[in-house]
Amino acid sequence: MSIVDILVCPDCRSTLSVDSSRDELVCGTCQLAYPVRDGVPVMIVDKARKLETS
Ligand SMILES: [Zn+2]
Repeated sequence: MSIVDILVCPDCRSTLSVDSSRDELVCGTCQLAYPVRDGVPVMIVDKARKLETS
């Protein structure tokens, strides 16, 4: 079982997807990317990066 299976967005409760090149967990619904620091996901909305909307 991957850690991502148990991780959901703290804001909207959607399942997150992994961006392994950036070490981020991405919520497509909120367009937020949560950082992973030393293998530990930082599930705090204030720490998340807003994705560019294309
Ligand atoms: Zn979300």
